[in-house]
This record gives sequence, structure tokens and C-alpha cells, in this order.
Amino acid sequence: MNESLPQLRIRNLKKIYGENQVLRGLNLDIQAGEKIAIIGPSGSGKSTLLRILMTLEAPNGGEVFLEGESVWTMTDGANEQKASEAHLHRMRAKLGMVFQHFFLFPHLSVQQNLTLAPMLVNHVSPSEAQERAMELLAMVGMDEKADAYPAQLSGGQKQRVAIARAMAMQPEIMLFDEVTSALDPELVHEVLSVLRKLAAKSDMTMLLVTHEMNFAREIADRILFFDGGVILEEGPPSQIFTAPQEARTQEFLKTVL
Ligand code: ADP
Ligand code: MG
Repeated sequence: MNESLPQLRIRNLKKIYGENQVLRGLNLDIQAGEKIAIIGPSGSGKSTLLRILMTLEAPNGGEVFLEGESVWTMTDGANEQKASEAHLHRMRAKLGMVFQHFFLFPHLSVQQNLTLAPMLVNHVSPSEAQERAMELLAMVGMDEKADAYPAQLSGGQKQRVAIARAMAMQPEIMLFDEVTSALDPELVHEVLSVLRKLAAKSDMTMLLVTHEMNFAREIADRILFFDGGVILEEGPPSQIFTAPQEARTQEFLKTVL
């Protein structure tokens, strides 16, 4: 294996909704284990990028490589790129995603939320799935709620369960899309502290879209500033937050810091 090969390589990525060009030729290399915070104004394409990486959506142009292998391949005459089933499988097996609005299965207990996919998709035995679920619930401080149902939990608790559920599939890359934005302010810190713990003790690659600038500064190796469907500026937190080069970055930071 080539050690300098990025885990994810994104080249000239484009996404158009109707007349609205949301991603305008985005380029990005991500090394395994990197913790990356994505910031930028609403509508700049942050969620779209994450959804394309998670294969929830197809790009209209460009390429995504996972460990050197192209995931999206152009189909002649199509206005969307198509990925082969094999590539989608590979991508989905390596990635996990957590959303702003949790999306827990309401009819399943907390523990069942964590065991369902490992048993169904990865054919993990029920006892092993339950054991792993309890370890993960302990890590997010939710082991005492293993038998509770989502409706009985606070927003912060639901989000901690959603994080544990994504981790139950043992992803190598985790995508977090504004996972604290729907929470009451007093519940934000409990979710951030779970993310801090994950960032500090795992070698997982983490991409986090966030409006929590202090948190981004603290945990990220690299900050990407999105504007108008491209990465307008990127660098270590020390540079982006204290000496941003682009006027748009300076303007944005003034409104959020
Ligand atoms: P961000 O996450 O940075 O706020 P998004 O990636 O969600 O931005 O959206 C970028 C732009 O794409 C927005 O203008 C949004 O309205 C548009 N958009 C996102 N998803 C869709 C969709 N499914 N259909 C049409 N337009 C969409
Ligand atoms: Mg978004």
C-alpha cells in the first residue's frame, strides 16, 4: 500500500439541482484518521458533499476515490454519474453518518437501534451485537437507557444513541452533519463531549459540519471553509480562525465568532 495515498480523494465534484449548481468542482484529499471540520454559510453545499460521500445521492460530475479506487463512474449519456453496486457496498461499509435530526427507529428500543443493522447487514450474532451495543452505549453514557424507547429520551440523549448506532457498524470514516443544531442549548455540551472523546481516542477519520466554532478549533486538524460550492479556504484551525486570508472567510467568522 502506498502510504501517501489519501483515504478519500474528491476531484472536480459537481452537483446540480435544476438550475442551482450546488457543488462547483470541489477538490479535497483526506488522509486516514484526519479530523476535519467543515464550516461555511447555509446553502454552500456542506450537506450535499456529505450525502454524496455517504452515497445517498449521486454527483453530476467529478470523481470520488476510496483508497485509490473510483467509486463514482460516468455512464455514457446519463446526466448523473452512477456507481456500481459493488462500489456502493464498499463505500457504505466504510462510512457512517449522523444527521441533525437523529432518525432513530421509533418502534425499537435503544439497544435494538444499535443491534439491528449489524445483525441484518453484517450477520453479527445477536449476543455479539448486544455486547457491542452495550459497550458503545456505555461510551456515550447511555447504557442505563438500553431498554428505553426514543420517545422517552431528550434530544441530547437521542443524538448520543444515534452516534453509538453509527459506530456499531464499525465505520472507518464518520460523517457528522450539524449534529448539535437541533438541540436545546443546554443539551449541546453532552453531545460535543461524546464527539471530543471519539476524536481523541479513535483513529477513525471524522468529517464534521458544525457551527460550533470553539469545538471545531479544539478537535479539528484541518478546517474547510465552504462558500458557493467550493472550498474557498482551508488550513489548520490556528490559521483559519486567527488569520483567514479570504474576505468571505473573514466576513463569515465575524458573524459566528
Ligand atoms: P448546506 O449544508 O451548506 O447548508 P446544502 O448542501 O444543504 O447546503 O444545500 C446547498 C443548496 O442545495 C441549497 O441551495 C439547497 O436549497 C439546495 N438543495 C439541497 N438539497 C436539495 C434537493 N434535494 N433538491 C433541490 N435543492 C436542494
Ligand atoms: Mg447542511
